[in-house]
This record gives sequence, structure tokens and C-alpha cells, in this order.
Amino acid sequence: MAEKKNTRIVQHTEECPSQQQHPENDEQFAGLQVNSGVEQLPSVNPYLKRKRKPQLTPAEYVEGIRKGNRAVLGQAVTLVESRNAEHQIIAQEVIEKCLPYTGNSRRIGITGVPGAGKSTSIDSFGMHVIKQGHKLAVLAIDPSSERSKGSILGDKTRMERLAVEPDVFIRPSPSAGSLGGVARKTRETIVLCEAAGYDTIFVETVGVGQSEIAVHSMVDYFLLIQLAGTGDELQGIKRGIMEMADGIVINKCDGDNIERANLAAAQFRNALHLYPLPPSGFLPEVITYSGYYDLNIEGVWDMIDRYFAHVKASGYFDEKRHEQERYWMRETINEQLLARFYFDPEIERLLTIKEDTVLAGKQTSFVAASDVLNFYYNKITNEHSKQ
Ligand code: GDP
Repeated sequence: MAEKKNTRIVQHTEECPSQQQHPENDEQFAGLQVNSGVEQLPSVNPYLKRKRKPQLTPAEYVEGIRKGNRAVLGQAVTLVESRNAEHQIIAQEVIEKCLPYTGNSRRIGITGVPGAGKSTSIDSFGMHVIKQGHKLAVLAIDPSSERSKGSILGDKTRMERLAVEPDVFIRPSPSAGSLGGVARKTRETIVLCEAAGYDTIFVETVGVGQSEIAVHSMVDYFLLIQLAGTGDELQGIKRGIMEMADGIVINKCDGDNIERANLAAAQFRNALHLYPLPPSGFLPEVITYSGYYDLNIEGVWDMIDRYFAHVKASGYFDEKRHEQERYWMRETINEQLLARFYFDPEIERLLTIKEDTVLAGKQTSFVAASDVLNFYYNKITNEHSKQ
């Protein structure tokens, strides 16, 4: 019969009760002795009072932004992104005061699937732009960032050369809220950046979903980065992103890949002829380049210059911006109406009750919906008549 192990815990003095809980202090582990721990000091000095950053007045924000102070611009963008109602009031005032100084820029959306080389290319394109004497802001819209609580798009570490340039402002995607909300914040950030003198704005997004539509609605030019030989060209065609693109660039046209990149460019040119001419009246061009090796970056930029020359001369540039203003006004109304409706506690309660009624088959969804809406309309009318 196997001998039962002696698991008696060595008794220690009453001053060290914690030692008794360590099985290593059992007699069988002769020579092993676990001492009780020492209380850890706090890593932060408890006597240090946390200083709250003094908040600037809206006029001070605007002054700092107008002087091109990147720190103040960054703080103002943080206010724009904040959900705090007080911050929002200040942010809206700052935006309104900045509005007269905006509009004088080129807003360029850049999209492509992960791995297409967006950040590498933005680094190269951006260096090209600032060498021409421009100031560049790199913003981003990342639909996945709400889940991951942080966006890799517009991340400084991915744009090594731009990150250290004084004429560049880089800001990752706002991470909170619906895509519409995130897009609106980026749209408002564009206003602040333009007031700070950034005359070229890049808005980066991943070419995998709805976010392109949001970016398309806030830029003058939409650039699609594609790769050769990965089947992406077909995906692009399928998803209708091609229809939104004002220009297509095939990246990684270097080394062994040159031939394939040129072939892909020819395929894209053919495919583009199958689409109707876009409202800009400018047939999208297709250019090959290498973001990594800085090859033909001027070629890409000349293509973009040609587009801007065309749409400025035709009046389409202003027309599109007016259309976007209208779109954003309506989007903001939609967003605020929805928020007001769904965040009303009475509506929240009624919705739960009505959902149960519908699921129990006692009412149709349409009747239940109009009951909820009628309740809301009556409530608003009563509130107004009391005022
Ligand atoms: P993103 O996910 O679209 O931002 O793509 P990245 O810029 O992070 O690039 C993805 C990978 O492709 C990285 O390993 C890059 O070094 C590489 N890459 C990007 N541009 C080029 C290029 O022009 N040529 C080559 N050969 N590789 C590139």
C-alpha cells in the first residue's frame, strides 16, 4: 500500500500567519522555506496632488489653432472626439469660429485592403507633398476601432518619416461611436486642421466596408490602392469601390513584381472603360508605383494634380463640396434625432414593452412602431406647449 504523504503544515509563530498558507513550508520539503512578503509601496507618490490640465477658452483654442500650434490643435481634436456634453459645447464653438478659415485645401481619401501598403504609401506621398512646401494632416476612419478600442490607422509609428516632420499632423481614427458619429468627428477635425493651415488632408480608411462611403463624402479625391495578382482587383470591382475611385494606384511595382503590376494596371484600365464616366467628368487613371522604394511617387501626384486642375476648371470641385455640406447637415440632423429618440428613457421602456407585444403576436411591427412614434410626437407637443 502506498504510503500516505505527510502533508502536515509546519506550524509557525502567530506573527507570521501568512507563512502557514505556503505548502512549501511542509516538513517534506526540507530546506525550503517561504518567507512572508513585504508590503509593497505604492508606485505613485500618494502625496502628489493630480494637477488637472487647465482647459482653454474657445477663443484661446482658436488662437492656438490659427497660430499652427499642434499641441492646441491636438487638444481641440480631443474635445471634438469627447462624448462629454460640456466638451462638445466648447468643441462646437471652436469649430464654428474656425469655419471662416477653412475650405482652402485638398482633401484626399486613401483606401486599400490591409497590407496594400497604405501607411507606407502615405509616408511616401506625404514626404512628396511637404517637399513641395505644403502642410499635411493625416486623419483616419477605422470602422473596427470601436471593437478594438484603438485604431492602427493613422498611427504615427507606421509613418516613420512623417512622424518627425514639423509640418505634419497625424491623428488616428476616433474610436467611439457609430460609423456615422466617427465620420462626423473626422469631418470636424478636417475643419480644425484647415484652420491651422494644413492645406493637404489625407483621410485613410480600410477598404473593407462601409467606411469608404463615409470618407468619400468628405474628400475631393478618392484614391484606391490596389495590389497586383491577389485577386483584389476583382474584389474592388465587386464591391463597387471602383465606382467611387477617382484614381487607382497599383502599389509594390518593384523587383520581381513589376511585370505583374503593369499587367494589373492594364486590367484595371480595361475594367474602368466598362463603367459610365463619373460625375466629375474625369476618367479615373491607373498608375503603378512603389511606396516602399519611393518609385513614381511624382507620377501618382501628377495624376492627382491633373484631376484637381480638371474639376476646378469645370466647377465640379465646388459643386461636390456643396453637395457634401448638404449631406453632412442632414447626417447631423439624422444622428441627433435618432440619439434624442433612442436615449429618451420613456421611449426605451415603451420599446421594450412593444417588442414583447410584437413577439407575442399581439400586434404587427408596423402598428407597434406607429404607437411608439405617436407617443413620442405627443410627448414633444406637450413639452412644447408647456414652454
Ligand atoms: P497597410 O496595411 O495597407 O497600411 O500596409 P503597410 O503599409 O503596412 O504595408 C504592408 C506590407 O507591405 C509591409 O510589410 C510593407 O513593407 C510592404 N510594402 C508596402 N509598400 C510596398 C512596396 O511598395 N513594395 C514592396 N515590395 N513592399 C511594400
